[in-house]
Amino acid sequence: MADLDARTRELAQALSAVRHRLDDAVAAAGRTPGEVELLVVTKFFPAADVARLIGLGERAFGESREPEASRKIAELAADGIVAESGAVFDMIGSVQSKKAKTVATWARTVHSVDRDKVVDALSRGAVAARDDGARTDDVGVLLQVSLDGDPTRGGVEETDLGALAEHVAQSPGLHLRGLMVIAPLDGSAERWMVRTAQVRERFLTDHPGARELSAGMSDDLEFAVAHGSTCVRVGTAIMGPRPLISQ
Ligand SMILES: *Cc1c(COP(=O)(O)O)cnc(C)c1O
Repeated sequence: MADLDARTRELAQALSAVRHRLDDAVAAAGRTPGEVELLVVTKFFPAADVARLIGLGERAFGESREPEASRKIAELAADGIVAESGAVFDMIGSVQSKKAKTVATWARTVHSVDRDKVVDALSRGAVAARDDGARTDDVGVLLQVSLDGDPTRGGVEETDLGALAEHVAQSPGLHLRGLMVIAPLDGSAERWMVRTAQVRERFLTDHPGARELSAGMSDDLEFAVAHGSTCVRVGTAIMGPRPLISQ
């Protein structure tokens, strides 16, 4: 790796450590390798870092803010890197209705859908993106579940989950793929993941095709994998501490 720049070497090392953690967690849970996707969370970091990660073999990235995400993806697309590599980008942050149209042009899946207004805005955006030729597939939707009912963190409570899922299922341009959680900071991460697995099991009786579970971040990915996560969203453990810029 002597020919790689210092940042690429740093990313390669951190990535390798996270990949080992993930492999160990999958093995410890008796699950099949490849069953859990690693989504590298690149918010706040430049397009050049995403390009480095693509060079290191990564293909799935999580972004959380507009217009930062669009700008970055456009930069990579202009260099031909996205088409060449088949890289995909998911929206993991909360979506403002007025930005849903833009998000629908680039997001493979939106992880943070938690209210009817966002479903409608994303559906309109997805249909428009298809009409414009910006995409050919549906926008994947994960419903963000609130585990503790704290409204400031986003997420729908379990009692309202069924109605929201129905709404997505009936919205053109959207494909309901599953659930997403962010473990609350208080209490044990493992206990929140146990609760997540219970919510998911009940949800799957009505929506057996929506099997994705986006759960687990830098600090708690092992617990998430032990309790059924199919996608871990890892930022800090790979990228390092996020720069404190505000846009
Ligand atoms: C930033 C972010 C992450 C990554 O968190 P780390 O602790 O840095 O791994 C995961 N999920 C969401 C929704 C985020 O906004």
